[in-house]
Amino acid sequence: MKICHVSDPFSLQMQEKHPLGSGAKVLLTSVFGPYAKDDAYGSRSNNIMELHHNQVTRVQGPFSLRMFHRSSGLKLIQANLDTSCTLLDYPDLDRFVSELRDNSYDIIGISAIQPNVKKVEKMCSLIRAHQPGATIVVGGHISTMSELDKRFDADIVVRGEGVRWFRIYLGEDPNRPINHPFIPSGIHRRCMGLNLDRNGEDATAVILPSVGCPIACNFCSTSAMFGGKGMYVNFYETGDELFDIMSQLEEKVGVQSFFIMDENFLLHRQRALRLLELMEENNKVWSMHVFSSANALKSYSMEQLVGLGISWVWIGLEGKRSRYGKLSGADSRSLVREFQEHGIRILGSTIIGFEEHTPENIDEVIDWAVSHNTEFHQFMLYTPPQGTPLYSEFLEKGLILDEDEIDAADIHGQFRFNYRHPNIPAGQETALLLRAFQRDFEINGPSVMRLIPTLLKGWKRYKNHPNARIRKRFERELKAMPVFYAAAVWATRAWFGDNLPMARKMNDMLTGIYREFGFKSRVSAPVLGRVVFYHLRREAKRLADGITYEPPTFYESSVKSFGSRVMETPSKLTGPGYQIG
Ligand code: SF4
Repeated sequence: MKICHVSDPFSLQMQEKHPLGSGAKVLLTSVFGPYAKDDAYGSRSNNIMELHHNQVTRVQGPFSLRMFHRSSGLKLIQANLDTSCTLLDYPDLDRFVSELRDNSYDIIGISAIQPNVKKVEKMCSLIRAHQPGATIVVGGHISTMSELDKRFDADIVVRGEGVRWFRIYLGEDPNRPINHPFIPSGIHRRCMGLNLDRNGEDATAVILPSVGCPIACNFCSTSAMFGGKGMYVNFYETGDELFDIMSQLEEKVGVQSFFIMDENFLLHRQRALRLLELMEENNKVWSMHVFSSANALKSYSMEQLVGLGISWVWIGLEGKRSRYGKLSGADSRSLVREFQEHGIRILGSTIIGFEEHTPENIDEVIDWAVSHNTEFHQFMLYTPPQGTPLYSEFLEKGLILDEDEIDAADIHGQFRFNYRHPNIPAGQETALLLRAFQRDFEINGPSVMRLIPTLLKGWKRYKNHPNARIRKRFERELKAMPVFYAAAVWATRAWFGDNLPMARKMNDMLTGIYREFGFKSRVSAPVLGRVVFYHLRREAKRLADGITYEPPTFYESSVKSFGSRVMETPSKLTGPGYQIG
C-alpha cells in the first residue's frame, strides 16, 4: 500500500500515474449504510449521518433539525476530472455489490472517516473479489490513521486534497481552474414533522473556497489531514474567482444563499473584502453561512460582515479556561449578543472534557456554555483522532486506550473518550455530554425557536437601511416570519403548555411577531399553528416508535460541460429514502 501526502511536494512528485491515464474508468463512493443503526461494520445509532441532529440538536425530539449533507469532497473531485467518473453516494451494501457486478472500473475511490474503518475493509475485500483488476484508492479523514496496511487492502491512500491528486494520477493538468458543482447544503431537511426542502432562491448551495486550516488546533483532524500548521489549499485565490463561481451558481439554480464550507473563510481577509466589493458593485443580495474563529470575526467591522451577507456563523466557544487561543481577548458572550443584535445567528461549539474539567467543575462549564444562548449549540467530547498532534502527545504519555479497549467506530466525540482522562472516571463522560445538551434545551428551548428573536432584531435594525441591497436581504430572510414562523411559535407554545417558563417565552415571541406584522400573523398563527401542532405531535410519536432516517442513494455520472466552470451532474434517487427502524 502506498501513502501519498498531497501537501508534501516530494511525495506528490514521486506519485506514479495510472497506465490508462484519462482513459481509465473511475468510480468514487462513500461508505455503505444504513448509518443510523448499530452494526458489525461500525454504524452507530449514536453517531448517525445527520450532522445537526447528531451533535447539535440531538435531545430536541421533534424540534431537532434533521438533514443530510452530500459528500462534498467526492462531488468536487468528480466535477474536476476529464476522465469518465461515476459517483455512488450513500449506497447500502447490496447497492455497492450490484455496482461492482454490473459495471467494471479501473479505479475505485472510497472516502471515509476513521470510525468507518471496518466498512472500508469490507468494501476493499468486495472489490478484490468482484473487480481484481481495479486500483483501490482510499481518502478522507481515515487517511491519517496509523498502520493502514493492516486495516484494509487498498493500493493507495491519499492524505490531503483529492482533486490535485486524481488529476496527476490520471495524467491531467493539475493546475486547471477548479470547477464547482452545485451541492445543495442540506437534503431531506425536516423539523417539527415538516418537510423543509427548498429550491431556487430559497435553497442554499455549498461553496468550497479552501480546505485545511492554518490555525492547527492540536485536536483538529481536518487541519492535520491537509498538512497542519500554516497549511491550507485555496481552490479560489481571489475574491474575483469566488464571485464568478457564486454568480454562476446563482444564474444556474437561482440560489441566493451560500454555505461556505471553509474551516476559516474569514481568515482570508483580502479575498473576503474583494468579494464584498464585487457584491456591492453588482448589487448581489446574497446570504452567507460561515465557520469562523472569534478573532477572525472581530477583525471585520459589523458593516463589512452585514455587507457580506454573513447571516449564520459556526464558532468555537471551546470552554471556560480552555488552553486554546482562538478566543483570546474575546468576551464570547458579548460577542454572541452583539452579532445577534444584527440578525446574525450563531452555532456555538463547546468541548466537554478538556484536561482541566472534573466531575466537580463540569456544571460550571456547561452553565457558562448555555449562558451564551446561541441559536444552536454543538457539544463534543475532547477527542484526539489518530494523526493529530494531541493523539501523539497522549500516546507518548501512555494515555491512549488500546484498540481492544475501544472500537474505532466508537471514537467520534459523541460517546466515549479514547484515552484515560486525568480527572473524569471512564464511562462518566457519556452522561456529562448528555447533560450539556439537555441543559441547553431546558434553559434555551428549541433551536428553531431561538432563531426568531435574532431574525426579528436584524429585521428591525435594517428594514429601513438606506442601502436597498442590505434591506432586501433582511426582507428575504424574514419572508417566512409573518405566517409560517408565527404558526410554528403558536404550535410550540401549545406544545409547552405545562412548562410555564417556556410557554411564556413563546408567548413573548408571538407578541413580538404580532406587533410587527399585525393582522396577517394574528390570523395565520392559530389557523396554521394547529396544522403545525398536528405534524409536531405526529413526528414525536414516530420518534417514540423508533423511526430513524437514512439518506437516499445518489448515482451520478459525469457530464462534461467545460464551457462553464460550474458543472452539474444529474442525480437519481435510487435508495429507500426514509426508513422506519
Ligand atoms: S480553528 Fe477549527 S478548523 Fe481550525 S484548526 Fe482549530 S478546530 Fe480545526
